[in-house]
Formats: sequence, structure tokens, C-alpha cells
Amino acid sequence: MIEADLILRGARLLTLGPLKDERPRVGVAAGDVGAVNDGFVAARDGMIVATGHGRTHERFTRVEGALDKDVGGRVVMPGFVDPHTHLCYAGERWEEFATRRSGADYLAVLAAGGGIHATVRATREASDDQVLALLRRRIGDAAELGTTTIEVKSGYGLEPEEELRQLRLLARAKAEAPIDIAVTYLAAHALPAPFTDDRKRFIREATKALERVVDEKLAEAVDAFVEKGVFDIEDVRPLFNAAKKAGLAVTMHADQLNDVGASAFAARIGARSADHVAHASADGIRALARAQIPAVLLPGSAFFVGYAPPEARRFITARVPVALASDHNPGTSPLEGMPTAIALGVTLCGLTPHEAIVAATINAAHALGRGGRIGALLHGRRADIVVLDTDDERELAYRMGAPLVAEVYAAGRRVA
Ligand SMILES: [Zn+2]
Repeated sequence: MIEADLILRGARLLTLGPLKDERPRVGVAAGDVGAVNDGFVAARDGMIVATGHGRTHERFTRVEGALDKDVGGRVVMPGFVDPHTHLCYAGERWEEFATRRSGADYLAVLAAGGGIHATVRATREASDDQVLALLRRRIGDAAELGTTTIEVKSGYGLEPEEELRQLRLLARAKAEAPIDIAVTYLAAHALPAPFTDDRKRFIREATKALERVVDEKLAEAVDAFVEKGVFDIEDVRPLFNAAKKAGLAVTMHADQLNDVGASAFAARIGARSADHVAHASADGIRALARAQIPAVLLPGSAFFVGYAPPEARRFITARVPVALASDHNPGTSPLEGMPTAIALGVTLCGLTPHEAIVAATINAAHALGRGGRIGALLHGRRADIVVLDTDDERELAYRMGAPLVAEVYAAGRRVA
């Protein structure tokens, strides 16, 4: 007998499954949301115990205090997974936002000591409590917008000691968060001033900090900004090798502004995902497809900064798994929530609305190494569920900015 403490029924249910195995979705499956009309999802103790359609749920036992609800034909789908954010910062960058007009300017602003360096200063000057309060608010805002799993990177400390401080603050934020946080050590974001003349020494120090990251269980993955004039492949190779040896996943900002061969490199070293990839070469895309490594598209930064967005069709036709993320950060993508990322993924990158939903759920789960646990409404997965105020999920892409997220459940508990 199935026992449930949460049943949402009478739904247009997007299961995002089932597939025969746990691979990320490509090809025809990349646009298949597994829709079931008159569907239901039932959960117990934070885990999904059944999904289906019609009235079979009537046989289930409702435990005392269970929430049993007819959603009246509205869309019920997996909570969004946001696999790439930089939420851990203080200070806003209004000036830069107001004056910057093109992608090329980003590297110039950076060279002039602005850009990321402004955020680094503000974050260092903020107290632990101030940073924690900001993290709490931003994680809460993401949950309100339907995100039930969010990756958050360090990266505004630059120097290893400051990065460790951010990771420890993230650990505290994670412990109390209503949704799941996947923490990433962004070890090489930009070269900090004390190391200007010695990037090898910087990478050695950042690599050494890995020991403490592992000892204190501060992160699941290590990230680096592999870009012309920032860090090249040879710079970051020892860092990534050490990360893998220590049992951490590897991910990277790859070929965002220039093709530096980072997508193919991500494939070679077995990265968890390759992110941005707007300038990935045809070879890089083929390599990602062969290795079935998710390309995480970040249209928010293209939208805000004004450079060319990644062309999703290049990845979809090559059978690269495509994921979407908000890339929330104060410099290039102050974008809130996955519905906007979905809308931009469609309007800027050329995904279909259903491909964008796959990219924001199950494929994003794979981009975080959680493809078997979240991202789909299937028996045995965590009960991360969103109810939309519509009976057509394509509205997510179409009515940009509309308040469509009506209810959010994380591990079976209502969080928004
Ligand atoms: Zn980023």
C-alpha cells in the first residue's frame, strides 16, 4: 500500500521521464517533457512515491496531516535546477552596468581594475553576517522563483584564503537553506594583484587550498575561468588534475568570449559540465557530444552585456546535452530565477520552449552530477516540485516575467 503525505492531482504533469537510463537528454528526447494530462504526483517523507494519471491515487493511504490537492489542470513539474551562479558577493555594480555596452569591454574593464575587482573589494569589506544575509536573501529569491537546487560558486575572494572564507560562509548558508545548494570552489576566476607576475605560483596556491576544501568538505566541484588573457588551459591543468585526484568534480567557464579550445579540454578531462561555450569550435562541440558532457548555456550574460549569445541549435543538432542556468552575478548577469533563463534560452539562444524546460530541469541536474536524484518527477526522486499558474508550460518562455510560479515544494515541503 502506498502511503503519501503530499498528493498533487488533476495536473498537467511534466514528468521529464521516464528514460531507460540516467543519461542527459539529447536528440528527440531533448524536447520531450514527458507530459501526462490528468496526472498526479505523490510523495512521502520528501521523496516521490508515485506518479500517474486518472484516479489510481484514490487507493493510496493519506497519512495524518497529508496535503491532498486538486490543482485544477495547472502544470506540475520538477523544481528548477540552476547549475551555475555566483551568489556569494557583496556590492552592486550600477556604474559599470550603466556605462558598459559590449562584450569586448568586459576584458578592458577587468584590465583597468574594475569589473570583478570591484566586487572582490566589496565582498572582502563586508562582514560574515552581511555576506550570509545576502546569500540567504538570494537563495530565498531563487526558491520563490521555483529553483529547488542551485549551484553557488565562490570566486570573489580570488586569493585562496579569501576563497576559503567564502566557501565556509556558503557551507553555513547551505546548512540552513530551504533548497539544496551545490557548492563550487571557483579557484581561478581572475589573477589577484599579489600574483600579477607569477600565475604559476597563484595556481600552486589555489591547488594547495584544495586540501582544506576536501578536509572541510567545502565544495563538490572546482571551476576556473578559461579565457584569453585570464587563464589558459596549461595554467589550469594542474589545478583540475589535483581536483579530480581529490575526488572533486571539475567544471569550467569555457570559450565564453573567445574560442580557446576549452570545450574540447573539458571533454578530455571528463568535466562535469562546460559552461558558457558561446564561442566553442565545431571540434569542441563534437568532443562534448562524444563525451556527453552537458553544455550549460548562460543567455543572461549575453543579454546584459550585449555579446553574441550561444547558438543552441549548434549543440542540439550535434547531440550535446544542453542545460540552462541563470549565471546570477553582479557584473554580467544580475538575472533572477530560471523562468527568465528559460525565456532567454528560447528567444536568444534558439531552444524550443520544451527544450528549454528540459535544459532547466533534468539536463541541469546532470550538469550538477545529480541526474539520478532530481530533475524529474519519478518514483524514488526527491520531491522537488513546482506548480505553475497556467495549463501550458510554454508560457514560461512566452510570457517573460509573468508570475507563473505558484507553489514550490523542496523535498516535499512547501517553501514558496
Ligand atoms: Zn559564471
